[in-house]
Amino acid sequence: MSSSIFADGFKDTPYWWEAAHPITGADALPDHSDVVIIGSGFAGLSAAMELGRNGVQVTVIDAGIIGIGASSRAAGFISGRAGVSKQINLKKMVGTTKANAILEEADEAYQHFQRIIAREDIACDFNGNGRFVGAHTPESYDAIAKKTAEYNQDGKDRFVMVSRAEQDTYVRSDYFHGGMVTRDAGSLHPAKYHAGLVQTCLRYGVKLIGNTRAGSINKTASGFTISTNKGDIRADQVMLATGGYTDKVSPWHKRRIIPMSSTIIATEQIGKARVDAMLPFGCAVIDTRRVIRFARPSPDGTRLLFGGRARFTPVSAEKSVRILHGYMTEMFPDMADVPITHSWAGYMAFTFDFLPKVGQQDDVHYAMACNGGAGVVMMSWLGFQAARNIMNSTNQPSAFEGLPFKTMPLYSGLPWFVPVIGTWYRFRDWIDRNRSAG
Ligand SMILES: Cc1cc2nc3c(=O)[nH]c(=O)nc-3n(C[C@H](O)[C@H](O)[C@H](O)COP(=O)(O)OP(=O)(O)OC[C@H]3O[C@@H](n4cnc5c(N)ncnc54)[C@H](O)[C@@H]3O)c2cc1C
Repeated sequence: MSSSIFADGFKDTPYWWEAAHPITGADALPDHSDVVIIGSGFAGLSAAMELGRNGVQVTVIDAGIIGIGASSRAAGFISGRAGVSKQINLKKMVGTTKANAILEEADEAYQHFQRIIAREDIACDFNGNGRFVGAHTPESYDAIAKKTAEYNQDGKDRFVMVSRAEQDTYVRSDYFHGGMVTRDAGSLHPAKYHAGLVQTCLRYGVKLIGNTRAGSINKTASGFTISTNKGDIRADQVMLATGGYTDKVSPWHKRRIIPMSSTIIATEQIGKARVDAMLPFGCAVIDTRRVIRFARPSPDGTRLLFGGRARFTPVSAEKSVRILHGYMTEMFPDMADVPITHSWAGYMAFTFDFLPKVGQQDDVHYAMACNGGAGVVMMSWLGFQAARNIMNSTNQPSAFEGLPFKTMPLYSGLPWFVPVIGTWYRFRDWIDRNRSAG
């Protein structure tokens, strides 16, 4: 592949930042705040918003600019329950009653997200165009058909199987062997949503302070002292919302979070007609590989955004563009000559049981781990739940609370096993695909 796949002026920063660049925030750290939140992504800001609007004095600090983590880098796919249970057999893991409570809460999280953007008037290019989960083999079509039947047991018929012959309505690509359409899903501009949360927090009096890395959290007689590169700040309560960027500020959490890199590329403008020709319904498309690939139109409909795991270890933007451009061309062969203007990566937070977590450890509140591409809705929801815990304003704990937060012997936060598993998964994807082609 020639270097012409890089457009003139190529950038290794998110395409989203062209329309909504994260802010630096204030510089000076106060001596004290009722609540200090570490991490300024969707979880941290959603918690801060809820606390701020209830009159609690909140300071959010971030090691980088406000929103520099996964939140301003996401692909912007959103949905309710499908995001929670895709990697696991939830019922087998937690039992039917708990599984139903979790799935219902995942649906509620999606409703909550829609209520928040309406209530706070957040313009984030949200559409409810649904999602097409495309089978990359005939066998995976059968597997998602089973899931669809299970999901639809609630009688709401929100998931629909679409055969290969009918899939053109959603995606025009021979790559897929049919798929599942999730009606209760859509997409948005993640950096605009994040910027909307920033503005809402500021309106509620939340202090947002960037370039402030928390080094440690120490319990005191009256609360906590958080040490940062800008000095100490005291707080009555602390919340950790550090996601896939969790570092030594909390070794306990670091041992329980597996950071997983994901990368996205944006093509140059190719025009609405050409994008519509690939994605006529304007919905997000995800495939069923173990190492997933996904595509969506840009919010203005003139570009294709394409993503996936270019590699399981950090690689240069140049290398990830070449890999993802190749994957994109496999899905949409007509894109072979289209150059890329932006490529960016970020870390998602995974847990050992693939379930999101909210709760308290040593009196420190936390909300973290979307386990893949569901964090826009889920981390906003868990941030809200953590805020309610901090205010002690509910006697109905989240269904995600109280789940075991497991680690693995000898794991300290460096996911040495991820490239090994990643290579194995990629190999199995390759075998499955070739078997079905043969
Ligand atoms: C490429 C990519 C695509 C994705 N696509 C989707 C999608 O389509 N749909 C979807 O729903 N989800 C998607 N996700 C997942 C989603 O973006 C995340 O789940 C979500 O943004 C996580 O929010 P968060 O608040 O938990 O963490 P983050 O947004 O990652 O924020 C954590 C913050 O903590 C800060 N921090 C860490 N340690 C410290 C410290 N010691 N002191 C101070 N600050 C610290 C970091 O700097 C960071 O800003 C995607 C993620 C990536 C990377």
